[in-house]
Amino acid sequence: MHSIKSVLREAAETLVLVSDSALLDAEVLLCLALNKPRSHLRAWPDRQLPPEQLGVFTALLEQRQQGRPIAYITGTREFWSRDFEVTPDVLIPRPDTELLIELGLKLIPADCPAKIIDLGTGSGIIAVTLAAERPYAQLSATDFSLAALRVAQLNADKHRINSIKFYQSNWFADVPAMQFDLIISNPPYIAEDDRHLQQGDVRFEPLTALAAAEQGLADIRTIARAARNYLKPCGHLLIEHGYDQQQSVQTLFKDLQYDDIQTYADLSGQPRVTYGQWKSSSL
Ligand code: GLN
Repeated sequence: MHSIKSVLREAAETLVLVSDSALLDAEVLLCLALNKPRSHLRAWPDRQLPPEQLGVFTALLEQRQQGRPIAYITGTREFWSRDFEVTPDVLIPRPDTELLIELGLKLIPADCPAKIIDLGTGSGIIAVTLAAERPYAQLSATDFSLAALRVAQLNADKHRINSIKFYQSNWFADVPAMQFDLIISNPPYIAEDDRHLQQGDVRFEPLTALAAAEQGLADIRTIARAARNYLKPCGHLLIEHGYDQQQSVQTLFKDLQYDDIQTYADLSGQPRVTYGQWKSSSL
């Protein structure tokens, strides 16, 4: 009949066409329909589903069959061990971006009242995580999208962070003159003609958060150039980029006279974040 076990097996079979993690997706959706944790599915595999819950599950499953990402269906995604709200107005948090946090935390000592700005904050994962991990820091965050800023504010509230100053701004365009210890960003960096933009979950994400002109480098260039006016002497710049952009981002940073340029690899070994320090005293 409609036992948890049989429903999951069937659902996973229908999802293999759209997902690399069909069984996991089916489990997550069933948990949402039942309002139970995953342990419940393991503990009660033979429990029969009442028609009402089966109906809810079928509706959720259909959304996934049409390609809608799990995070947009459930409305949440975990990042750095915290749950964040996500909507189609923002990029879905990726594990790759935890590298930015790891490096940022190394640069900012725990008891330091450092000034930090997160550019293109989206769901707010970077600003909120840094604010939570570094309670003495003064965080600012920007996004040109008002809808994204609403999601970021929601996430700040959810994690009881009330110290982030949000700006609706296209990169630095509307950020008042200030000097930061750390400028950090996960900007759009995929080339506009990259065929991955037409495949899988990314089709449902905001294109403006994913793709940039000049083979994906235009926004990184804008940020790195303007950041020089907003960094304290010896301030730090950390930017996430594509696995194949290490060379171009390093060249860009060199041309802009950053020092100590280094690129770091993410958990899957791909060059993912480039660092530069602003030592020059004036432009
Ligand atoms: N790393 C993401 C991807 O490959 C892109 C995120 C971004 O553009 N900032 O889908």
